[in-house]
Amino acid sequence: MPELLSYDFMQRALIAAFLVGLAAPMVGIFLVQRRLSLIGDGLGHVSLAGVAVGVFTGNQPVGTALIFAVAAAVLIELVRARGRTSGDVALAVMFYGGIALGVVLISRAGSGAPANLDSYLFGAITTTSSTDVWVFAALAAVIVTTTWVLRPRLFAVANDEEYARATGMRVTALNITLAVLTAVTVVVSMRVVGLLLISALMIVPNAAAQLLGGSFRSALRLAVLIGVVSSVGGVWTSYYADTPSGGTIVLLTIAIFLVATIGTGVVARARARSHEGKDEHQHEHGTGCGHPTIRHGDHVDYLHDGERHAAHADHWDEHHVVPAGPKEER
Ligand SMILES: [Zn+2]
Ligand SMILES: [Zn+2]
Ligand SMILES: [Zn+2]
Ligand SMILES: [Zn+2]
Repeated sequence: MPELLSYDFMQRALIAAFLVGLAAPMVGIFLVQRRLSLIGDGLGHVSLAGVAVGVFTGNQPVGTALIFAVAAAVLIELVRARGRTSGDVALAVMFYGGIALGVVLISRAGSGAPANLDSYLFGAITTTSSTDVWVFAALAAVIVTTTWVLRPRLFAVANDEEYARATGMRVTALNITLAVLTAVTVVVSMRVVGLLLISALMIVPNAAAQLLGGSFRSALRLAVLIGVVSSVGGVWTSYYADTPSGGTIVLLTIAIFLVATIGTGVVARARARSHEGKDEHQHEHGTGCGHPTIRHGDHVDYLHDGERHAAHADHWDEHHVVPAGPKEER
């Protein structure tokens, strides 16, 4: 048995890292799709104020951080739903207000506070208590289950909000749900990755996976794998290298992303010369065939087994989940 597994705190840290690596990319995939990659970062800022209130008042920081993050998440979606240009400024005020309040409150909280601040901002594996692990496990279960169940709907909304609204989906409710899931993920991740870096673990594994994976489903699977490998691997490495876990995890994710970028560049050039049709497809898609449809440029994609199928000549193509095109200004 490796030396580090004989320590209770390392066992807890590795469990927490596994949970974070699993949950963060699952939520992040929809944020990437909706071009909201930095929302997690903003929620991390606000959560610091929550942590500080917890430290200051002698309550569990995880609980107070959760309250702040969820409240901020709901507020963000309400501001976005109203579509005002001033919304951008409102969010900036909220995010920087959060981190400023956090820093000030923690500095007034007494002994040991500065060290505390670092551990929340950048993650500190040794600070995960066994209560934390249970709370994180419960929250991670909620995140993973909710995301999985709502996956088709979140996907449709992220892909084309106007179209989803037109088909009668409760877009605002779904957006708020996603924002709240993001908030919960931020809080679950704060011990392992830290509030300033968590957004990277939601976004970068998905960026790497979308380079490699074809369908939404395979990209999601791959993103979760990359997330788990980099967060568990990062905690493992940080123990031996004596580095902060959050930074180590994020550097590992970015390394995977860079390898994927270079690798797919080479493969794409080779593949561009040969077109690959999907010949094994049996089902004939059409109006009322029962599969949800998604508008995609000048044609319609059918959602089928977590993939997007589009008619092409005498066969069905699998259309990749690429980041949405330029969004209209609202
Ligand atoms: Zn084709
Ligand atoms: Zn069909
Ligand atoms: Zn298409
Ligand atoms: Zn199909």
